[in-house]
Amino acid sequence: MFRSVLVLGYIRGIRIEIHVSWLIIFVLLLVSLGAGLHQAYPDWSPATVVITTVVTVLLFFASILAHELGHSVVAIRRGVPVRTITLFIFGGMAQISKDSESANDEFWIAIAGPAVSFALAAGFLLLSLPAVAISEPLSVALVWLGLVNLVVAVFNLIPGFPLDGGRVFRALVWKFTGDAARGMRAAVMGGRLVAYGLFAVGLWSMLAMGNLLGGLWIMIIAWFLLNMAEASGRDFGMRKRLRGLRARDLADQHLPLVSPATAVDQWVNDHMLAGGQRAHFVGDRDDVIGLVTLSDARKLPRERWSQTTVADIMTPVQKLVRVEPDSSAEEILQLINEHSLNQLPVMDGDRVTGWIDRRRLLGTIELHLELKS
Ligand SMILES: [Zn+2]
Repeated sequence: MFRSVLVLGYIRGIRIEIHVSWLIIFVLLLVSLGAGLHQAYPDWSPATVVITTVVTVLLFFASILAHELGHSVVAIRRGVPVRTITLFIFGGMAQISKDSESANDEFWIAIAGPAVSFALAAGFLLLSLPAVAISEPLSVALVWLGLVNLVVAVFNLIPGFPLDGGRVFRALVWKFTGDAARGMRAAVMGGRLVAYGLFAVGLWSMLAMGNLLGGLWIMIIAWFLLNMAEASGRDFGMRKRLRGLRARDLADQHLPLVSPATAVDQWVNDHMLAGGQRAHFVGDRDDVIGLVTLSDARKLPRERWSQTTVADIMTPVQKLVRVEPDSSAEEILQLINEHSLNQLPVMDGDRVTGWIDRRRLLGTIELHLELKS
């Protein structure tokens, strides 16, 4: 499957990845900063311009990463796990895997990112003072990095979801009213206002200032923020209603089974197509050894289907992403989205006790919610 992210590596167990859209920003920054430096400092040699540009852009990239690590470190310290940090076209995002359980956690996690950016801004600007005497490119780069980090910190503190400021705002409303949902509503409303405001600024700079590209860019960011704010609000509502629902309530106890020695073509014809079921557990009710899916079959050339057994192409049970009977609906939805799973076994120790099918899951959740209300 095509992955739209490049994994850079791991820092303290957090996967650091770059979304392909980030490369657009990387190139745009290289080109515009390079051209800007060339124009402002015509006496710099081409090599000086190129080296200064590349190093500055890389340090900018490291600054964004540091901002996200700021959020992540505080989250982890407060017992909120962080799996991934993704850098994408609008900056970075730490995928903090669940909502904070207290207003204090939310506040400190949210404020940590801008705090790092402010500290970096101060550090770069302070270093730029003695650097003037050493080298002009060095001091120019440091001033640029200082100002850019300052902009990142200030922009992120605008009090609208999903910006950090929106989270801080949410935490404060939550803290003072004791009501997490009210905090969320306020932050989403703030997010809408910020998005409409930015949209107006973009339109104004397009029409009144004739800055077509810049204005369009601002409008795209506004649209993106609006979508994020609305989606965060919806997710929050959904998660709140899902609270209390566990894997055991959502799982299907009836496992679709196929025996390990079945040939792939026989499985496809007799089990998959005949039953309209895209995946089967391999083994029997008390001893499931793996899971075989349509995509496993598609990886095998068709002429080999008759001599290969499902046990040869299955994913062994030890390697399956799984949940426990007590796992929450929120965790399940998140795993399914994160790993793009179609089915998920529910396992009690080594035993498969049931399974969850992506397509049926939403229907099941809806029924549970209707029964609840
Ligand atoms: Zn942030």
